[in-house]
Amino acid sequence: MRILFVLNIPYAIEPHGVMLLSSICKKAGHEVHLVLLKKENLLERVKKIKPQVVAYSVIGSEIDIFIKADTELRQYLEEADTKVFRIMGGPHPTFSPSILDTMSLDAICQGDGERAFPTLLERLENGGNLENIPNIALTSAGATLREKLASADLDAQPFADRDLYYSAVPYIPRTGLRSFVASRGCPFHCTFCYNHVYNKMFEGCGPLLRRRSVDNLLTEIEQVIAEYPPVRFIRFFDDTFSLTVDDWLREFAEEYPKRIGIPFYCLMRPNTFSEEAAGLLKKAGCYSLSMAVEAGSESIRNTILKRGLSDEDMRVAFERARRWGIKTYGNTMVAVPGTTLEDDFNSLEFTRNLKLTVPTFSVCSPSRGTELADYAIEHGYMPPDADMITRFSAESPLITYTNKEKKIQARIACLGTLYCTVPAFLKPLVKLLIKSPLPIGLARKAGFSFAVFRIATCLFPHAIPKNPITILRVAIDGIRYFW
Ligand code: SF4
Repeated sequence: MRILFVLNIPYAIEPHGVMLLSSICKKAGHEVHLVLLKKENLLERVKKIKPQVVAYSVIGSEIDIFIKADTELRQYLEEADTKVFRIMGGPHPTFSPSILDTMSLDAICQGDGERAFPTLLERLENGGNLENIPNIALTSAGATLREKLASADLDAQPFADRDLYYSAVPYIPRTGLRSFVASRGCPFHCTFCYNHVYNKMFEGCGPLLRRRSVDNLLTEIEQVIAEYPPVRFIRFFDDTFSLTVDDWLREFAEEYPKRIGIPFYCLMRPNTFSEEAAGLLKKAGCYSLSMAVEAGSESIRNTILKRGLSDEDMRVAFERARRWGIKTYGNTMVAVPGTTLEDDFNSLEFTRNLKLTVPTFSVCSPSRGTELADYAIEHGYMPPDADMITRFSAESPLITYTNKEKKIQARIACLGTLYCTVPAFLKPLVKLLIKSPLPIGLARKAGFSFAVFRIATCLFPHAIPKNPITILRVAIDGIRYFW
């Protein structure tokens, strides 16, 4: 079959879900194409490729863009009296299955698609019954059968099809950065995150955490180093790279420097970043890591957000990273339901005092279905029909703030990195900018450019291309797609 995968933005982090499905589909003999809505017109590509299946991969904040592109496609298909099977996968349909009705899709995939999608294609090809495929829903009620892949299944999969993405986004391979996933799942219960919803949805379908073997992971990295040079920095983007010091982490710390020896970045939690874990990560070659701050007050962090992390946990973890010479990144949210603007400024100060290498800020926008969204609606902080689509520096959807407060919060999201990294004598100046009527668009461009510059130069410096012309081309592409 001819399959056209559809993504929105050419993100610098490779879309592993789509790349993996592409490998699996190609192995099964299907023809695979990719379109990026930010770069190309979906309808034009459909007319050219004539796919039998269009597969959208969507995160919540992008849904409006997909609805617009799909509406145009649907109109064309109706007028041309042509049938194309339209399916959507990714976090949005997993947690908001009603999108199936909203867009009149043929199906959605909830959760893992590596077994579900090829089964669906096989049945489509052979005219079989599409009912009862685990993780595939044909109505907005959601999938009746659900399954999670096990660790052994993750090892048995082919490696992600990087050709598909790199040929569509040529600026990515020009940088020295390559991304990998070592595991899936997170057992924590942060109320703003979808993991607790996912864990409930897939309860009884297998373990919460599934991990590839160290050998399988390193073999993929070795292959990518050989096939897609130059590779100078590795980014692991598992939700939490290591939950505890175990045999897996010890083996990784032993084998990674021997077989790969390239600096890397990963995501941790302050409570999983123990002294022993820090030592093993450093030994392996960890150059920088992410540990989210989320809130500057212990009670907000633990009562409303259920992070289970004291202020002391936060201070100890970031101080430990500094001591081991590991650079740090972390995000803090403002406008958390049930909090005030004063809390936001406290969070700004708390984050500054943690001395992260690159702190960033975002406006909290509770996602539908999460415990935080239920809490906000229950307490009257947010109407039940609020637009619950995460847009990082947009104004808060909560009704408890004045318009002026919402604008200040949005400016904190844009200029918070600057505030936390300037010398102390410049703090009042940045605070003045945050409270001033500076247009959000301008604050966003200036603040995000500064944050991206710091991320590139402080967290992933090895990934910056060596050739100045390549740097310019990468920068132009970045500005074209993200500004
Ligand atoms: S630790 Fe991170 S990934 Fe895990 S539930 Fe909390 S926010 Fe989500």
